[in-house]
Amino acid sequence: MTASGARKVSELPNAMEQKEELKGRLEGKRLAVFLDYDGTLTPIVDRPQDAVISDRMQRAVRDLAERCVVCVVSGRDRKVVQELMGLDNLVVAGSHGFDIWSPDEGAIQREMGGEFGEVLDEVKARLAREVEPIEGSLVEPKSASVAVHYRLVSEDERPKIRAVVEALLQEHPDELKVTPGKMVYELQPKVDWDKGKAVLYLLEALDLEGDDVAPMYLGDDVTDEHAFEALKEEESVAGRGTGVFVGRADDPEVAGRATSADYVLDSVEQVEEFLDALAR
Ligand SMILES: [Mg+2]
Repeated sequence: MTASGARKVSELPNAMEQKEELKGRLEGKRLAVFLDYDGTLTPIVDRPQDAVISDRMQRAVRDLAERCVVCVVSGRDRKVVQELMGLDNLVVAGSHGFDIWSPDEGAIQREMGGEFGEVLDEVKARLAREVEPIEGSLVEPKSASVAVHYRLVSEDERPKIRAVVEALLQEHPDELKVTPGKMVYELQPKVDWDKGKAVLYLLEALDLEGDDVAPMYLGDDVTDEHAFEALKEEESVAGRGTGVFVGRADDPEVAGRATSADYVLDSVEQVEEFLDALAR
């Protein structure tokens, strides 16, 4: 995916051990915190509907949102995220930032071409027909994408799912793309959009473009790299943004990955501690 990461995940300092440095970065600035949901605020689970936020994490996010702008950015539908969060003092950006709700302004909808709607409907129908009968699979239709989860599918059945996804991509090379995640394929309209663009768009939409704003992004997945990268390299925010990768820096699967994040937090529990510390 992204190759411009400056460091490897294993080289990132832990954010909880760099409090003084962070304090310096944030001094005199208005903090705006962007949070991924799955894997960042809740542990990764077998079924997405089980990714429920803990009371303590909910409290940590709510307390922080009383002090600064907090925005949850997720690939899930905005209303699902709002329900999962159970808080009304945060900005929620669902569908990778296509569908935004803010406590001050209500819903802010981004335009998405209607022709993609038709392709997505076809994709949803095909997946329901060809993938859903495979045991353990879970097709999650969303407003601007479809996720195909295969964590609970047996190893020998997984190629079947992959084949359906590949066939769909071949049939719609100009309209569809797939973003692989943790045991999930996410089929999305092929528009030039990612979490980095979403964060930059959100900074603009939420009137957070001033030099006094310090945006921070916490995320655990490959797709979050786009956000780390945007905060690091985009001229309008360069020097003010902070990226925090959530995950075990000693996990062989991620340790060698190139990243544009500045810090690491080991676990969802550490994210909670960190948000608590930020709120104070
Ligand atoms: Mg995630």
